[in-house]
Amino acid sequence: MSNLEDLYREIILDHYRSPRNRGELASPPAQRVEGFNPLCGDEIVVYLNVEDDVLVDIKLTGQGCSISQASSSMMSSAVKGKSLAQVREAITSFKQLMTVHATALQENGQPVEADLRALGELAALQGVVKFPVRIKCATLAWNTLSQGLDDLS
Ligand code: ZN
Repeated sequence: MSNLEDLYREIILDHYRSPRNRGELASPPAQRVEGFNPLCGDEIVVYLNVEDDVLVDIKLTGQGCSISQASSSMMSSAVKGKSLAQVREAITSFKQLMTVHATALQENGQPVEADLRALGELAALQGVVKFPVRIKCATLAWNTLSQGLDDLS
């Protein structure tokens, strides 16, 4: 086990034990969107407050496995306060992390040396792609966020 894997595990456990932005926002005006991962039973409710194309606040509730809960906490801290364009970029980057790496792993059994630093602590979730059934756990919060943005218009 490498030190990097230890660090990633620490980051995930930290978000699981101390989830960020936990709670609810009054809806309306907040956008409320629900997500469900039937493969694992993970549930999430995301509340979005958008003003002038900025995601000024985000809260979430839900329950599920440690990966889904840690990923939703990490997602909320990654996008809070960002412009909607930046939020959409983050969604795209995270989905690429989950798919590009999965493909590369199938080819040579090793994760791709991508620019993980750009993703900050989200890179901690890259190890999930070794377990394809858990990818849906990690992406649930992001897909739910994406749906919430689509519902805004
Ligand atoms: Zn799960």
